[in-house]
This record gives sequence, C-alpha cells and structure tokens, in this order.
Amino acid sequence: MMNICVIGTGYVGLVSGVCFSDIGNNVTCVDIDENKIENLKKGIIPIYEPGLDELVLKNIEENRLHFTTELQTAMNDAEVVIIAVGTPPKETGEADLRFVEAVARSIGKNLTDYKVIVTKSTVPVGTGKWIKGIIAEEAGHSNFDVASNPEFLREGSAIYDTMNMERAVIGVESDKAKDVLSNLHEPFQTNLVIADIETAEMIKYAANAFLATKISFINEIANICELVGADVTKVAEGMGHDNRIGKAFLSAGIGYGGSCFPKDTNALINIAENAGYNLKIVKDVENVNAQQRYRVYDKLVEALNGDISGKRIAILGLAFKPNTDDMRAAPSIDIIPKLHSDGAEVLAYDPVAMKNAKKEIAGLQTVESYEQAVQDADAVIILTDWNEFKEMDLQDLKSKLRHPVMIDGRNMFPLEQMENLGFYYASIGRKTVK
Ligand code: NAD
Repeated sequence: MMNICVIGTGYVGLVSGVCFSDIGNNVTCVDIDENKIENLKKGIIPIYEPGLDELVLKNIEENRLHFTTELQTAMNDAEVVIIAVGTPPKETGEADLRFVEAVARSIGKNLTDYKVIVTKSTVPVGTGKWIKGIIAEEAGHSNFDVASNPEFLREGSAIYDTMNMERAVIGVESDKAKDVLSNLHEPFQTNLVIADIETAEMIKYAANAFLATKISFINEIANICELVGADVTKVAEGMGHDNRIGKAFLSAGIGYGGSCFPKDTNALINIAENAGYNLKIVKDVENVNAQQRYRVYDKLVEALNGDISGKRIAILGLAFKPNTDDMRAAPSIDIIPKLHSDGAEVLAYDPVAMKNAKKEIAGLQTVESYEQAVQDADAVIILTDWNEFKEMDLQDLKSKLRHPVMIDGRNMFPLEQMENLGFYYASIGRKTVK
C-alpha cells in the first residue's frame, strides 16, 4: 500500500487515481478546477467513461480515494506524485507545457521530503529533465527523483485498459525510483519496460504514431480498393491473420480523431524537426487523415447527385469514437459545418456526446433518438460506430427515411444485408450498393 498524489483529474488522472486506489493504495486526486473537485467529492463524475462512477463511489466509501484542490495537503504523506495534467497542442503543433510547468513549480514549492515525481502526461522527449530542474530550483534541494510513466489507456475502455494493462513503461534514472514504481505496478502483473526517461517519453509518441500510421495506411488501401473493385474489410482480414501485422487498427473508415493521435503525431513531427529530422511518414499519416473524413461528404454529394441544398441529413454519432463523450478532433466537427454551409438541414443524434458537441459545432441541432434523426431525412450519415447503431432495426429505419440513402463512415453493415433491404449504401473501401 502506498500513498499517492495524482495531479489533474481528467480522463487520465481520474482513471489512474481510482484504479490505483482500487488495488489498495491511498490516493488523493488534486485539480485546480474547484467545481470538478466539489462534484467528485460527492461522486459526480465530470466525464463519461463506462464503469467509472461505481468505481469512484466504491473507493470513496472505502476511504482510499480523496479529492482536493490543495496540493500541499495532498502531497504531504505521498511517496509518489503523479503529474496527469493536459498537454494540448500549440498552434505550431508543439505540446504546450504550460500546465506541466505550473504543476512542477507547485510541487517544488511544497517538497519537504523525498518523493518520486512521475510524469504520466504525454510530454516531449527531454521534459523529465526539464521538470527536474524546475522542481530543484523551487525546492532548493534535490531530495527527489523524477520519472516517466506514460499512459496508454483508451477512452471508452479506460478502466479495463488500466486494470489489464499490457505493459507499464517506467522511465527512471535511479534504482530507488525504479523500485518504487515497480512495486506500484506489481499488482497489475504486467510487462514492465524499464528504460531511461528520454526513452520512456519516446515510447509513448512512437506507439501512438505507429497506431495512427496503421489507420491511415488501411484508409489509403480502402481508397484504392474503391477504385479497383476490391473489398477493404476482406483485405484487412487477410492481412490481420499474419501475426507480424495483427488484426487491430485495420478498420477502414473516416480516420482518427480524439485528444491523442492528432496531437501526438503533430508533437512527434515537431520533436523530430527540433532535432533536425524530417519525419516524412508521420507527416503523410496526418495528411491522409485530414482528407479521409471528407470521404463521407463526397459520397453524400454523389448519392444526392450534387444537390445538398435544402436536403435534410441525419447524422448518427458525434463523438470521435464510441463509448465516450469526447469531441476533441472528432470528424463531425468538420463534416457538419460543411453540410450547413451547403444549405443542408442537419439533425444529429449521439448517445452521450450531444452536450459537448453543441459547444464545438455552431448551430448544431440534436434530437433524442436515432429514430427522430432519420425521420423524413433525405440521407443518413454514420460518423461513430456506437453499438446502439449496430443494433438498429434497419427495415424500420428505411421506412422512416424520405430516400433510403445511407453513407456509412464506419463500415457497420454487411453489403449483402443492405442490398437485400434495398438501401443506397456507400461505405469506405467497399463497393457502393445502389
Ligand atoms: P484533461 O484535459 O481531461 O484533464 C487535465 C486535468 O488537469 C483537468 O481536469 C485540469 O483542470 C487539470 N489541471 C490543469 N492544470 C492543473 C494544475 N495546475 N493543477 C491541478 N490540476 C490541473 O486531460 P487528459 O485527457 O486526462 O490528458 C492528460 C494527459 O494524458 C495529456 O498529456 C494526454 O496527452 C495524456 N493522455 C491522454 C489520454 C486520453 O485518452 N485522454 C491517453 C493517454 C495519455
């Protein structure tokens, strides 16, 4: 059992904090957002993440999980202090380390005895050393270790991913910090990758850039499939059985969004540039991704014979992926304004992201069910592959549409089924059913 202080209670800080407490540690989560902390104390969760509510409540009740805005109190007995604040992109694509720096200064000011200060936020290579300098300057001593422990959880399955982590990357420069962090991760019975701090920082960017590359790669293959009459879902199946390739991340669609891949690929390009290296592959991965989301728009234009003005379009799914209300860099943010500017009337439905989406998309009109969205629509576009959409009664859906046109950015349905139902069905990397 360890005393842990987690700074920043967003997706990463809150989920890691609650999971560390659930395996028996005493965890105090700190945030500067007073409203968030007041709510969390009552068990009100600021984000949508399956299973999080119950786990937070359980650990509050068992007195292992605490929330505060007072860093000093939270750090008092902590052996490990985890930095999990945001590192959003600057205009240049570089990671903005403003929040990390502010936290490092506060930690330094409150550091009275030895602690391991761990960076969980995704930060450019070299940040660990930089943080060490800031803390030492503020504290006036060096009785601490810094370490890197990048996070790999996925929003939507964050608790499962943490409890069943496939590896923990631990970047350290002392045996003491290595032992503390190895012990902390022992209950997860996972693969420990022990490295120096720079290598640990690099692993996170390399992993995310590689996953983004897989997505853009299969999307380009999908685009070729459309031109030559092949089916990308079968191509992916045929590729995925090869262990060297693997099945994951080979679903063609409208590309990646979210708070991590766009930001981290950009930051890696910047890290490379600053080191005098032109990271060509990842630049192309980004370019392909930026274009890919518009495939659904192009397919809609084709389906409606170029005439979108005055048409009613149903949008199913707003979040960047299922099981989250996170709208950061979601394709819907680009697609819906484009439809608006063409004069279309857009009615959107998402099981959980509508509130957040309204903050991001001007003039967004939402309805309370997919049935309401598709009623009298000239076409329906699927942007997020929520399970709820997989389970739709397609016969009924077709009867509600003014024209049976479905543009599916996530390849959710078999072509044969859509053909039998009599849909005009355009998806990604497969033949269009007309
Ligand atoms: P987030 O924006 O959801 O949460 C950040 C939290 O930090 C906010 O609650 C904010 O109020 C708080 N904060 C900011 N300044 C603070 C300060 N001085 N003191 C205390 N709290 C402060 O961010 P997130 O999505 O949890 O991401 C955090 C980091 O983890 C980022 O570097 C991100 O790249 C990385 N990451 C995110 C994910 C993900 O899926 N979201 C996955 C892996 C890694």
